[in-house]
Amino acid sequence: MPIVLIYGVCGEGATTRASWAGNGETWADWRPEGAGTLSLHKVIIEDMATAMRNDQQNSNADERKAVETFKFLMAITLAHEMVHFFIGFLAGSTIPCTPPSITGARLRHNHTDDSGNEIGESGYAWEKCAFGGKVVAIEDVNHPLGGRQAGVLVLKKGNDTGRLIRHDWEQDSIEKKAILPRPTIDFKRLTRQNLASRTPMNVVRKMALDAGLRRRGA
Ligand SMILES: [Zn+2]
Repeated sequence: MPIVLIYGVCGEGATTRASWAGNGETWADWRPEGAGTLSLHKVIIEDMATAMRNDQQNSNADERKAVETFKFLMAITLAHEMVHFFIGFLAGSTIPCTPPSITGARLRHNHTDDSGNEIGESGYAWEKCAFGGKVVAIEDVNHPLGGRQAGVLVLKKGNDTGRLIRHDWEQDSIEKKAILPRPTIDFKRLTRQNLASRTPMNVVRKMALDAGLRRRGA
């Protein structure tokens, strides 16, 4: 399947599923290149490349940690988007969409199409099964890398509370080249108010794009 880097992705990544069945094809006829398009946020890839370059040149701990968090977050993003393609493989067509019961948190993640049909979110359903919640990056307002930071990762529950993810989990997963199923989390629970007061990194990036602080265009 084609992978494209664009600035206009709402989160870290997005999937556009293609219909591949409907003329008598069976699962044996499915080909990955026809599954659809996977888009990744171009700013994240650029910031990850910048942090890698800076760390290689200056051996900087903040840059290295950012690279590890970016790699980890994008590994989860790719896995999340692959689940959408898997649902596309099972369904054959983009219609009907993902059933509403396949979701991480129905009220938070499901959306409604133009015809009023509720659509589930299989990627978040996978995150909930694998980790017990959704992995999100929030801004550290005091971070030395400022707007190009990877953010702090949080395991967010369906009720909008969460827990901070320890960096060990990210490092261990990168070292073992596998997303470890059990996140190591800080004991401190983040309340709804805690989380609502922290800005998600996708919003930070969007604000920078809207303000013209980043380049636009695919
Ligand atoms: Zn998704």
